[in-house]
Amino acid sequence: MKWSFGEATENMASEVNPSVVTDPSPIVIPRDQHSISRKNISENALKVLYRLLNAGHQAFLVGGSVRDLLLGLLPKDFDVATSAHPDEVRRLFRNSRLIGRRFRLAHVRFGREIIEVSTFRSLLTTSTQGNGEDRDGEQHAVVSDRGVILRDNVYGTIEQDAQRRDFTINALYYTPADFSVYDYTGGMDDLERRQIRLIGDPQVRYREDPVRMLRGARFAAKLDFDFAEDTLRPIDDLAFLLEEVAPARLFDELTKLLLSGYSVRAWQELRKTTLLEHLLPLTWDALDDTMEDLILDAMHNTDRRIADGLPVTPGFLVAVLLWPALVEARASLLADGRPPADALHTAALEVIAKQQSRVAMPRRFSTFAKEMWELQPRLERRQASRVERLLQHPRFRAAYDFLLLRAKSEDALTDLGDWWERYQALDKTERSRIRADLGPTGTRRRGRRGSRSRSNSRAERRQ
Ligand code: ATP
Ligand code: MG
Repeated sequence: MKWSFGEATENMASEVNPSVVTDPSPIVIPRDQHSISRKNISENALKVLYRLLNAGHQAFLVGGSVRDLLLGLLPKDFDVATSAHPDEVRRLFRNSRLIGRRFRLAHVRFGREIIEVSTFRSLLTTSTQGNGEDRDGEQHAVVSDRGVILRDNVYGTIEQDAQRRDFTINALYYTPADFSVYDYTGGMDDLERRQIRLIGDPQVRYREDPVRMLRGARFAAKLDFDFAEDTLRPIDDLAFLLEEVAPARLFDELTKLLLSGYSVRAWQELRKTTLLEHLLPLTWDALDDTMEDLILDAMHNTDRRIADGLPVTPGFLVAVLLWPALVEARASLLADGRPPADALHTAALEVIAKQQSRVAMPRRFSTFAKEMWELQPRLERRQASRVERLLQHPRFRAAYDFLLLRAKSEDALTDLGDWWERYQALDKTERSRIRADLGPTGTRRRGRRGSRSRSNSRAERRQ
C-alpha cells in the first residue's frame, strides 16, 4: 500500500516493513525506552521517511535532529539518511534537487523547509588514481595525500554510514519503520555523559576534514557538553589544518559558532585550544585583555539578542572580531604620519583583505563592518551640523551599539554613549538646542587636536 502524505499515524507506520532495518550489530533502543515521539518531528521529514520506506528503501532520521530530540531540544532541521541512491531520491520527490559535488545529496523542499536526504556512505578507501577508480574499475572515495577527502560518492550500508559521521552523538538513527533508535558508535552513552567524542581515530578524522574541530567546539557550546579527552587532545597540533579549508566554508562555520545563541561559550571553546589562532589569526595577534573583554561583552549581547528573538548580523560580528586588529593597524599608520581618517580607512581595507584569505566574509558584511568602524570617530566628534545626518545613517544603530561596548573599557567614551542615548530620546526643539551647545566642530578639546588640526580637519571632512 502507498501512504498518503497527511499526518502520520501509528496505523500507517505499522504497515511499513521493519525488515528494512537489516544490520545486526547496533544497540537498538525500542520506542518505549527513548524519548523521541513523532509529534516532535517535522511533518515534512515524516513524509520523506515514509515515502522512502514505502519504496522499499531504508530511511532514518539522523544527526542533529535525533540528538536534539533525545536531549529534549527543538531540532533546527531534519536530516534523513537512506539506502536509496541520490537519483532514486530525486525520482521519488518531484520537489527535490541534487546538490553537492563532493557529497552528492538531495534537498527535498516543502515551502521554506528543506529536508536533506543523503545516501549511506561507504567506508573510505584511498584511491590510487585521481579519478577515484582502482585497477578493477571499482569506485572509491578520493583522499589527498594529506588525508583530506576530495570526492566521496560511494554508497554503503547504514553501519558504514555511522562510522563516517563525525561525533558519536551525531550518529544516532531513528526510523518510523519500527520507532527505534539505532546506535552504532556509543552515541547514547555519550549523550548520557554529555560528551563530544569523535568516531574513530581523532587524528585521522580531523585530517580528513579539519572543520570537525570547529564543529566539535560548536556542539560543546550549544549543548554545554565537554570534549572527550582524546577528541580534544589532538586539536592544538592540528588546528593549523584549517588553513587548507575553503575560506567560504570557514565563514559559514564561524557564523554558526558565534551567531547561534551560545557565542560566549563558543568563544571560550575556541580559546581553550589553538583554534582561534588559526581561524582568526589577526584577532589572535592583536588580542589583549581589554579587547577580549570587549569581544566577550559583544558575545553576551549577541546571545541576549538571540534569546529575545532580535536579529543579529554577521556584519556586526565581523566588526567586533576584527576591531583589535583594526586598532593596531590604524595606530601604526598614524605613527607613520597618516591623517586619522586616512589611517582608519586604509587600516580597515588592510585588515579585511588579510582576514579574507582565511575566512571569506561576503562583501556586504565586510562593508557593514567598515562602515561601523568609520562611524566611530564621527560619533565621537559630534559635529553639530552632522549629528542629525549621522542618526539617519543606515549603520548608525550598529555603530552606536558598538560605541557603547567600547565605552565600557575606554573611559573617555562613557559620557559620549550617554549623550547619544539622551539625544535620540529628545524631540526636535530640544535636539536643536543641544546641537547649538556643541558648536560647529563638535566637542573635541582643542588641546587634543594640537598642531595637526588643519590637515586633520581636511581629512575629517572627507569622511
Ligand atoms: P545542527 O544542529 O547544527 O544542524 P547537525 O549535527 O545536524 O547539527 P549538520 O551540519 O546539519 O549538523 O549535519 C548533519 C549530520 O551530518 C551531522 O549530525 C553528522 O552526522 C553529519 N556530518 C555533518 N558534517 C560532517 C562532517 N564534517 N564530517 C562527518 N559527518 C558530518
Ligand atoms: Mg542538521
